[in-house]
Amino acid sequence: MPKLDENIEKAKTYLAKFDKGVLNRIAGEDVAALDGTTFETISPVDLKPLAKVAYGKAADIDLAAKAAKAAFPEWAAVSGEARKKILHKVADAIVARAEEIAFVECMDTGQSLKFMSKAALRGAENFRFFADRAPEARDGKTMQGPGQVNITTRNPIGPVGIITPWNTPFMLSTWKIAPALAAGCTIVHKPAEFSPLTARLLVEIAEEAGLPKGVWNLVNGLGEDAGKALTEHPAIKAIGFVGESRTGSMIMKQGADTLKRVHFELGGKNPVLVFADADLERAADAAVFMIYSLNGERCTSSSRLLVEDSIYDRFTALVAEKAKRIKIGHPLDPETVVGPLVHPVHEKKVLDYIEIGKAEGATVAAGGVKHDGPGDGCYVAPTLFTGAHNQMRIAQEEIFGPVLTAIPFKDEAEALSIANDVQYGLTGYLWTADVTRAFRFTEQLEAGMIWVNSENVRHLPTPFGGVKNSGIGRDGGDWSFDFYMETKNIAFATGAHAIQKLGG
Ligand code: NAD
Repeated sequence: MPKLDENIEKAKTYLAKFDKGVLNRIAGEDVAALDGTTFETISPVDLKPLAKVAYGKAADIDLAAKAAKAAFPEWAAVSGEARKKILHKVADAIVARAEEIAFVECMDTGQSLKFMSKAALRGAENFRFFADRAPEARDGKTMQGPGQVNITTRNPIGPVGIITPWNTPFMLSTWKIAPALAAGCTIVHKPAEFSPLTARLLVEIAEEAGLPKGVWNLVNGLGEDAGKALTEHPAIKAIGFVGESRTGSMIMKQGADTLKRVHFELGGKNPVLVFADADLERAADAAVFMIYSLNGERCTSSSRLLVEDSIYDRFTALVAEKAKRIKIGHPLDPETVVGPLVHPVHEKKVLDYIEIGKAEGATVAAGGVKHDGPGDGCYVAPTLFTGAHNQMRIAQEEIFGPVLTAIPFKDEAEALSIANDVQYGLTGYLWTADVTRAFRFTEQLEAGMIWVNSENVRHLPTPFGGVKNSGIGRDGGDWSFDFYMETKNIAFATGAHAIQKLGG
C-alpha cells in the first residue's frame, strides 16, 4: 500500500504543528485556557493522542465574547464589497491548504479521504457563495402604504456564537461561519471536543487571509462549560448550533435569560422510500451511499429503508451485497469508504444499538460486528437490519453510524405513515417513477428537505434545515442572512396626512 504509507507520512508532517498543543484564538492572539488546563484529542485510527487542546471554560468564553463585541462595530461598518473580497481570500487560502485540511480531518475524525478531500473544497465554496451575497445582504424591500412608503433594511445582529459537532467539523464550521461573517457579525466559535483540529486551521487561515483581529474568536472546551457559557453570555446575540436534538433543547433553556435567537440543525432518522416502479439499481446505490458514506455519521443519512412489499426481499438483498463489498480501512487509504468512528465512546453507542437491534428480533443481513481494521481503531462494519418494524428502537432513534434498518410497506398510505412516525423530520428520499405520486407524497412527508429519485445533492441557494425535532430555522441563500441580521422597517409619510389632535 505505497499510497497509504505516503499519506500517513504526509499526515505526520501536517499534524506535527499541533505537537506544542492547540491554543484558543481570542482577539487575534493565541492564548492558553485561563486556568492553564488542557484536554486531549485522540485519533480514532489507533486511539493515540493527536494533541493537547486548551480547555476553555466560562472565563475564556467571557474574554472571547468581549473581543467579538469590541470588534463588532468596525466589522459591521466594513462595506459589503470589502467583506466580499476578504471572504474570497479566505476561500482561496482554504483551497491552497486543502490537502492539509483533509489529512488532519481524516486523522481527527476517522472520515475517509475519499470524502474529506472534497470537504475542504466544499468549505471554500461556502465562503465564496456567501462572499458573493455580502454586498446585497443589507438590502430590503420597499412597500407602499396609504400615504406612506416603507423601506426595510437589514443590519447584522451583533456578535454570535457558533457551536458545531464532530462529524464533519471543517465543512460544517464554514457552513455556519461564512454567512455570519458575510452578514457583518463577529463570532465566537466553540467546536466539538472530539475533533477540534481543523477549526483551529480555519481561524488561522481566515486571519492570514486578512480577516481583522477579534472578528473570529475560537474557544475550545466541553459543551457543559464552554458551550453552556457561550449560550448564556449577554454579549452574544444569537447561537447557530449544529448537534443533537437534546443539546438543542438544553441550549434553548440556557439562552432563555438573555433571550437568545437560536438556529438549530439537529438530528435525523431519515427515510429512503423505494416503490416497486423505481429504478432499483439506482435507488440501491443511493441508499447505500446515503447511509454508509461519511461513516454514517451524517445528519442527512438515510437510516431507515422503507421498501414496497413486492420488492422487499430482492431490494434488501441488493443493498446487503453492496454493503458487504464496501471497503473498510484506514481513513488515509484512497480506496477506503468507511473509516473508524470518531471515538470509542461513539463506537460503543453504535455497537450497543446493533445489539439492541438483534435483541429486538431484527435480522442482521450485513455487518453487525466490530471490524478488525488497521491500528485497532473504532471500525464498525456497514450493517443492514432486515425484518424490522418501525416501533423498534433501531427504527426510531438516531444511531449516527453505518447502520441501516429496512422495513417493508404494503402501499403508499402505509409508507407515509411509517415515514412520518418518528420524532425527527430532517430529510426524506423518495424513489418512484410515478410523478403524480411523487407530488402527492412529498406534500405529506414531514421533512425539511426531500430528494426525489436522488441522493442528497446540495444546491447552496436552497434552504437547508429540518422540521419536528430536527431543527429550527433554515440555512442557505437568504435564509442564513435572515438569522444573522435584524430587519428594520422605516416608514416615510408621503404627504401631510391628518394626525389626531389629542389634548387640543
Ligand atoms: P452534540 O449535541 O453532543 O454536540 C454538539 C456541540 O454542542 C459540541 O460542540 C458540544 O460540545 C456542544 N454542547 C454540548 N452540550 C452543550 C450545552 N449544554 N450547551 C452548549 N453547547 C453544548 O452533538 P455531536 O454528538 O457532536 O454531533 C452529532 C449530532 O449532530 C447528531 O445528532 C447529528 O444528527 C447532528 N448533526 C446535525 C446536522 C444538521 O445539519 N441537522 C449536521 C451534522 C450533525
